[in-house]
Amino acid sequence: MAISIHPLVDHGVKPGNPSFSGGTLRCKCASDPVTVSIGANVAFDHVCGCTKCWKPPGALFSLVAVVPRDKLKVTAHAHKLKIVDESAVIQRYRCTGCGVHLYGRIEKTDHAFHGFDFVHPELFHEQGWAAPEFAAFVSSIIESGFPPARMGEVRARLRELKLEPYDCLSPALMDAIATHAAKQKGVLAG
Ligand SMILES: [Zn+2]
Ligand SMILES: [Zn+2]
Repeated sequence: MAISIHPLVDHGVKPGNPSFSGGTLRCKCASDPVTVSIGANVAFDHVCGCTKCWKPPGALFSLVAVVPRDKLKVTAHAHKLKIVDESAVIQRYRCTGCGVHLYGRIEKTDHAFHGFDFVHPELFHEQGWAAPEFAAFVSSIIESGFPPARMGEVRARLRELKLEPYDCLSPALMDAIATHAAKQKGVLAG
């Protein structure tokens, strides 16, 4: 049996609709769900193996992407949201009713990704958001208890799904972080 990565990619990655321009994220509460309005398509959509991202039950990876923070607005039942770990760089807002993370925000203004919020596109009520492009923090699934001896199967399955596996972020995002650091140090102009 093929390794299950995430229910929304296990049957093949569904292409996004290029004209998708946002929608509403909703938590899993049957009543009084938290809703978050997103006024843009997602970018850098990917599956993530880290231990911090919210994942649906049984999934090895989360599905996570970014949106500009000024395009995100909590529109209902904001009182149910609580920050998972105030000391973490990414402040993840979790619904205290169902446990789903609605968004993650970086408040450190000097962080490379400041200005972007992390969201889980599977929570969109609408279809058509940009498809996942790669797999990040693949080795980290071991930290959740996945057997190290089976990592080859996981990476092979990710390649089969055209989700290139990386053990950190993708080269484009790692370059963005390094560029930001270089500019802060003054070794790179701009
Ligand atoms: Zn909820
Ligand atoms: Zn993650």
